[in-house]
Amino acid sequence: MTLPTTAAPKPAAPRVNPLQRIWLREIGMERLWMRPAPAAARPVVVPQVPVSKPVSAPEPAPVMAAAEAAPVHVAPSVAPSTAPAPAVPVAAAGSPPAVGAAVASTRANGRPGIPASILNRTGPPPRPAPKAAEDEAAEAPRIPVAEAVKNANLDELREQVVACTACGLCDGRRHAVFGQGATPTRWLVVGEAPGEQEDRQGHPFVGRSGQLLDAMLAAVGMSRDADVFITNVIKCRPPGNRNPKPEEIAACSPYLMRQIALLKPERILVLGRFAAQTLLGTDATIGSLRGRVHSLKTDEGAEIPVIVSYHPAYLLRSPSEKARAWQDLKLASRKA
Ligand code: SF4
Repeated sequence: MTLPTTAAPKPAAPRVNPLQRIWLREIGMERLWMRPAPAAARPVVVPQVPVSKPVSAPEPAPVMAAAEAAPVHVAPSVAPSTAPAPAVPVAAAGSPPAVGAAVASTRANGRPGIPASILNRTGPPPRPAPKAAEDEAAEAPRIPVAEAVKNANLDELREQVVACTACGLCDGRRHAVFGQGATPTRWLVVGEAPGEQEDRQGHPFVGRSGQLLDAMLAAVGMSRDADVFITNVIKCRPPGNRNPKPEEIAACSPYLMRQIALLKPERILVLGRFAAQTLLGTDATIGSLRGRVHSLKTDEGAEIPVIVSYHPAYLLRSPSEKARAWQDLKLASRKA
């Protein structure tokens, strides 16, 4: 028997079992039936794409977080339209879309998506400039207090103190306390720093300490309004009335030095340990400093007598020391 031959591709041979194969051999058709099928007729082998998450329960892709974590490759979505579209593997058809695809489809739909500036970048997001750097750039250069006070008169000096931010004490103050009294003056009375009441009112030595000081001055024929100018080493109140820090003293001292240079007092009465040690530049105790006349040499070359005594606040706590304070006042009143 002759089988018809044709140029057309033959259909793939069906699968046969051993008995069928024996029977085909018997009838002489085994070679025809068992010939390998043409390539086009071979079964399609579908590449398996690994799926990292179960297809049945896809989680919504955190688009922003993923875009931050890794560069997003959007090249496939902008490939020329003439290129053949890659076949979608069957195994991957139901899996969640990759981040790049999700972003691309969102953008293709015309809906708001991730801005191109974020999509195209490969590094971390740019950080805004630190605020501190902006503030520093905006700040005008500071003039040191010692330089600023050099040519100031008393009114200008007062304005400088009121606006001063040369040390941290400016943060918590209500008022910077410049000082108060007669100009010109006979005595300059110098205390430590404003207390709570001074900070509230903006004047030195108010409250009970101020009343006691006025009484002491009156005892030697002096008055706050006519004869003395009262101020402090530090012009702003330290929090909780703590001792001023060395850097605060250094920042504020030029104001006192300029006050002395402008007022040219006959005497300086220093009240309390801290003020005495600061003005005289010593660590000596107040007990060893009082009872004698010291001398302060100014930048202009003048020498001003300095008398040390107790602070009125201390005398209120220790009334027995008032007798010594009285001796100090008499020493200060003595003619040179
Ligand atoms: S304490 Fe003196 S230096 Fe400090 S802010 Fe007040 S005025 Fe300025």
